[in-house]
Amino acid sequence: MSNDEPLEGSMSRRRMLALLGLTGMNMLAGYSPPVLASRETRGSTLGCIVTPQQTEGPYFVDERLRRADIRSDPSDGSVKEGLPLTLEIGVFGVGAVDRSACKPLSGAMVDIWQCDAQGIYSDVVDEGFNTVGRKFLRGYQVTDADGGVRFVTIYPGWYPGRTPHIHFKIRTGPGYAQAHEFTSQFYFDDRTSDSVFARQPYARRAERRPRTRNEDDGIFRRGGSQLILALAETQTGYSARFDVGLDMK
Ligand code: FE
Repeated sequence: MSNDEPLEGSMSRRRMLALLGLTGMNMLAGYSPPVLASRETRGSTLGCIVTPQQTEGPYFVDERLRRADIRSDPSDGSVKEGLPLTLEIGVFGVGAVDRSACKPLSGAMVDIWQCDAQGIYSDVVDEGFNTVGRKFLRGYQVTDADGGVRFVTIYPGWYPGRTPHIHFKIRTGPGYAQAHEFTSQFYFDDRTSDSVFARQPYARRAERRPRTRNEDDGIFRRGGSQLILALAETQTGYSARFDVGLDMK
């Protein structure tokens, strides 16, 4: 399987900056803020810190598949096995005048896509598999008035050359003077991945090559430490919230 290769961004993409909010930094430090913070609280306390975008990689397919629970495959109704992960993403726009002010960005399209517990993506042809026509573990949601979207997925598996990750892409809605597109990836603490992958269905794969860890992944090393999800345990798996700020200049 080929690795994700860095892609040259367009001018507009290069101009785009991701800004990781104070909430995200607190989460990196091990502090978990209330998930249901009010719009005012979340917006007004968000401090914006620049973080890099990351490559889209070879497996993005613009399916336009709007759904919150991406575990099923609409082509046959099957549901992907794996540790449930509830992922909330907050999207905030940063004004050109007041850089310290982040406002919830409503109406933005947020796509996520990832591999399954065996390291396989849907709807692509690759060295080891052909999943064309299948659409598991892909989907998008549109941000609400608080700039939020919520997905239900599984903890991703892994594939050779990459540390475990979830891809995401944010596209602003038609209400903005200039279209913005932001693409990056979420990561996981290696120790958490170790424990997850020791369990089924992750442990049953026959892959003999060693798993790539965060610091051995060249894409992760370009800002990935700012994109690690702070996981909270739930009754069945994990949940996480991550706030992303987009430079709207
Ligand atoms: Fe990938």
